[in-house]
Amino acid sequence: ESVIVAIDGPAGTGKSSTSKAVAAQLGLSYLDTGAQYRAITWWMISNGVDVSDPAAIATAAGKPSIVSGTDPAGPTITVDGMDASGPIRTQEVSSKVSAVSAVPEVRTLITELQRSIAATAATGIVVEGRDIGTTVLPDADLKIFLTASPEARAARRSGELKGADVAATREALIKRDAADSSRKTSPLAKADDAVEVDTTELTLQQVIECVVTLVEE
Ligand code: C5P
Repeated sequence: ESVIVAIDGPAGTGKSSTSKAVAAQLGLSYLDTGAQYRAITWWMISNGVDVSDPAAIATAAGKPSIVSGTDPAGPTITVDGMDASGPIRTQEVSSKVSAVSAVPEVRTLITELQRSIAATAATGIVVEGRDIGTTVLPDADLKIFLTASPEARAARRSGELKGADVAATREALIKRDAADSSRKTSPLAKADDAVEVDTTELTLQQVIECVVTLVEE
């Protein structure tokens, strides 16, 4: 039977690296739900939608077609058939994604997409995000909530961004987490039955082993 693993937590805790590696080791599919919210945000920016206007976002929400490729060895994301994997990682998208993802119409559409992807994954799937254990897949077989100190998260993210200023990265992450945690519709939150793993003092390899062990238990 298929295995559903939900991995939630704030930015910079190692969710993507962990989720991809766990999926690859266990022969499961992989879905990056943050990439989907980034993709719809990129489409809104590119099409002149005012992202400070929730009504405008709600009206446009159904227009782009977002498709995720779920192979953990090479996940993909397209918007209306265009490769969006580069453009969704810009600072502009990072700074605007919380406003777009807070709009209920956006969440309803993306949540439906996520559930249909999870339902059709043959052997199962690792789904990473903010509300997977609480809202998208509340019946997941295993729920993990990753945390880390703000310093560790900023240092990891600055490393990924090659030379980005650690202090500025830290402020941007804290601001995005606060927005994601305080929105009314399915905020960033730990499910009651999730296992919390603090990754501050752990290597990526240790976090992967920890999650794989929990799936196999
Ligand atoms: O995971 P990542 O940092 O790429 O996510 C980008 C943004 O997408 C988050 O800051 C959040 O606003 C939104 N998101 C969300 N729900 C999810 C995953 C991501 O609202 N399940």
